[in-house]
Amino acid sequence: MPPPTSQPPPESAPTETRNAKGEWRPPYPVTYAPLLVWPPRPLAVLKWLVTYPGFMWPRNLTLLAISAFCWFYTQPDLTRCTRFTWDWLGQIYLRNLALIWLVYGGYYFILYILKTEGTKGKYDARWPATNSRVFLFGNQVYDNIFWTCGVAGLIWTAYEAVTLWLYANHRIPYLDWHTHPVLFVGWFFAIPFWREFHFYWIHRLIHWKPLYKHVHYLHHKNINPNPWSGMAMHPVETIAYLSVVLIHWVIPSHPFHFLFNLQHAALAPACGHHGFEGPILDGKLPTGSYFHYLHHRYFECNYGESTLPLDRWFGTFRDGLPKGAGTDLPGEHQGSPGPGFRS
Ligand SMILES: [Zn+2]
Ligand SMILES: [Zn+2]
Repeated sequence: MPPPTSQPPPESAPTETRNAKGEWRPPYPVTYAPLLVWPPRPLAVLKWLVTYPGFMWPRNLTLLAISAFCWFYTQPDLTRCTRFTWDWLGQIYLRNLALIWLVYGGYYFILYILKTEGTKGKYDARWPATNSRVFLFGNQVYDNIFWTCGVAGLIWTAYEAVTLWLYANHRIPYLDWHTHPVLFVGWFFAIPFWREFHFYWIHRLIHWKPLYKHVHYLHHKNINPNPWSGMAMHPVETIAYLSVVLIHWVIPSHPFHFLFNLQHAALAPACGHHGFEGPILDGKLPTGSYFHYLHHRYFECNYGESTLPLDRWFGTFRDGLPKGAGTDLPGEHQGSPGPGFRS
């Protein structure tokens, strides 16, 4: 699952130096946003909010721009959504599939086909598994694409269809721009935080042994994740993960808020799983999540993301340094990535 991000200091661009296991590790720790710290750091928070790379730019504004484009150019008019008909259902499913291929496929194309970075800054030097019994079709990427397009894409569309139908039939509360402009704008700031809070608790829940064994194990087959691993989840996990949008069923919001929340959840995992330390593309594009990579590598740590310090508060934070925070947590993931990894 999801992303963001402590970005490296500019002088610490990824190098090719690897440890004895062939893993690349940043020489600096994963850090949290300066948001909930004591003593408070208001200037640092302001800088984090508005400068690049920070809270707004590039990640959240890019996702907001995608949602705005979809809202204005691809969204069926709400008046069409009062009844479930194939025309608008097909329209949003095809649009969602296009987004998946654009974002997940885009990262994969740049980093794994064009190989613009080579293995520079790649946490695990191996490329995705082929000829492996662990994955469907014996191939990690084909497996991940199946779960993303064939399953997650449908569940994503189902959430969208039902919620649009509810808005269209006035069955859930609606917030209008003209009557509540401050609340309307406030939603866009709140959604990334709500997403992170929701993700942390859902993620803790699916690490409960019975749920892990039957549900979350599927995502964790990807010890060495690639962009397509982000939404490669068991359908029960996808339903739980995307339930982040159910907040719109009870708190007044506009369908555009809902669309942003849903697309944020559905698209952000691509950059959270691509397996490279950012910034990529000659240091121009801040992206990637060492924070979440450590969760895939060590498993019992970093359930959340790096804005709200929930892992720190609940004792599950690992900063990635050999003698840093979290080294007393359980060690390496004991599962096997299976045979057939190419190095
Ligand atoms: Zn993940
Ligand atoms: Zn997990």
